[in-house]
Amino acid sequence: MTKPGAEHAAAGGAPESPDRSEHKNFIRDIIDQDLKTGKFAGRVHTRFPPEPNGYLHIGHAKSICLNFGLARDYKGLCNLRFDDTNPAREEVEYVESIMNDVRWLGFDWGDRLFYASDYFEQLFQFALRLIGTGKAYVCDLDADQVREFRGTLTEPGKDSPFRGRPVEENLDLFRRMRNGEFPDGSRTLRAKIDMASPNLNMRDPVMYRILRATHHRTGDTWCIYPMYDWAHGQCDSIETVTHSICTLEFTDHRPLYDWFLDALGIYRSQQIEFARLNLTYTVMSKRKLLQLVQDGRVTGWDDARMPTISGLRRRGYTPEAIRNFADRIGVARNESTSDVALLEDCLRDDLNKRAPRVMAVLRPLRLVIENYDDAGLEELDAVNNPEDHSKGVRKVPFSRVLYIERDDFRENPPKKYFRLSPGGEVRLRYAYIIKCVRVVKDKATGEVIEVRCTYDPGSKSGMQQSGRRVKGTIHWVSAAHALEAEVRLYDRLFTVEDPGGENWKELVSPHSLEVLKGCKVEPGLARVQAQDRMQFERLGYFCVDDESREGALVFNRAVTLRDSWAKIERQ
Ligand code: ATP
Ligand code: MG
Repeated sequence: MTKPGAEHAAAGGAPESPDRSEHKNFIRDIIDQDLKTGKFAGRVHTRFPPEPNGYLHIGHAKSICLNFGLARDYKGLCNLRFDDTNPAREEVEYVESIMNDVRWLGFDWGDRLFYASDYFEQLFQFALRLIGTGKAYVCDLDADQVREFRGTLTEPGKDSPFRGRPVEENLDLFRRMRNGEFPDGSRTLRAKIDMASPNLNMRDPVMYRILRATHHRTGDTWCIYPMYDWAHGQCDSIETVTHSICTLEFTDHRPLYDWFLDALGIYRSQQIEFARLNLTYTVMSKRKLLQLVQDGRVTGWDDARMPTISGLRRRGYTPEAIRNFADRIGVARNESTSDVALLEDCLRDDLNKRAPRVMAVLRPLRLVIENYDDAGLEELDAVNNPEDHSKGVRKVPFSRVLYIERDDFRENPPKKYFRLSPGGEVRLRYAYIIKCVRVVKDKATGEVIEVRCTYDPGSKSGMQQSGRRVKGTIHWVSAAHALEAEVRLYDRLFTVEDPGGENWKELVSPHSLEVLKGCKVEPGLARVQAQDRMQFERLGYFCVDDESREGALVFNRAVTLRDSWAKIERQ
């Protein structure tokens, strides 16, 4: 447990604006250069292109902050475009959650919400054009044969026997593919590039496949669907995107991206690759996250342990903290892994400034002040936020019977234990100095179930002090006034720093969630709303859970006050 004020040390440093996106990176250098040369006539137009096959995660947040951040800083535009070319895995639920998350992060696509499926007809026409100029052909090889003919990194591929099909036949077959005359998987449309290219992506890549699947937007209108590589660049071109920013694994796809645009002779966006975000103790693949959900290892995509935006939100993360994190990790060309402790630190920084302080006791131990009047009640002043005095003070009730943290009392204290022990003194936060005079034990178990104390009426906080000081200060709540709450404490979802391997499922931590019932919180919290965030003094930052109701309060611990795992390098 941390001492009061420890969070300030953790937050450290001079106050900074939460958005520091003016930080230079290589993409900004490219854009600055393009602005100088007039490459895009002074325009900056980016896009964020999620596939609606899962919820967004913190890695996507990096891409969102980058793309929307560039548009904001260069007074340009950023589109939200759903890359919905794979009907088998996509759902409306995902579309909605993605829009919600982008907005929550603080970004706005204005009237520029697009779907790759909006362009299916246009893409079809583009494909006809490529066939017409002899740059695409209908191939009757099945998926296995296509793979077999492709060759390997060390061996060139072999030409498909259908590569030489005349243009008219290709046009006819492709139209008939669209009309549903052929079974799924029986034919593809392929670009005619180079089966001997050292770049496998250039070996006559498939542009269309036949697939009878109902699309969440176009229904059963189409039974051919464009492949990612064929759709993506053309969508960028149609939207006159200037800088098409993607992650490094697309570097080898860039020649194909450019080839399609050149072959069509249409507007050319510039693809730029950057390193994706990897985080310690975290899996980031949507496929794996979906499995965690489907296997019931978490309660859903928005489980507070998930690295999804909705999980982080539920946990208590703020958009400001996530944007600040994106700025602090920066944008680079080399793969790296960021420390999840840095993400947590960004949240501390933000909540330290903003979160109101309250008192809550997670594992209550009854404390009776023997010389305090039975019917006595005082309303004591408690500071709402020592970082922001404009937030003022509130009244907290003080009475004869209190709860303190079980951990704040030891019958046999170790050396340097500054909390309460028999014969010892401690200050009750915002209240009096008390002294433990005896304990009451459970007869059967010997466990301490009540601490009996006396208080010093002359030691009231804020009063002219008697000159007497005690080393420890502990928090408390008045038993008669406290509200009951459930509190959920989280630990990392994975037990190792890099849970990326094949056995990742075995690395899920069995201790990632601890649910505490019967916690006691100060009465002012009666009407908190889901998503309200606050500091429980000495315990961490907490967020009201979505399931919380008046009379059945539920809090999630967003983050502890001070990081106890890793040393964070400050930049
Ligand atoms: P998949 O395509 O396998 O479903 P994905 O993570 O690439 O998964 P997309 O929906 O295609 O998901 O991603 C949308 C955008 O977010 C892409 O531009 C992608 O490059 C970017 N992105 C995805 N993961 C990360 C990450 N970890 N760090 C940074 N950007 C990411
Ligand atoms: Mg992708």
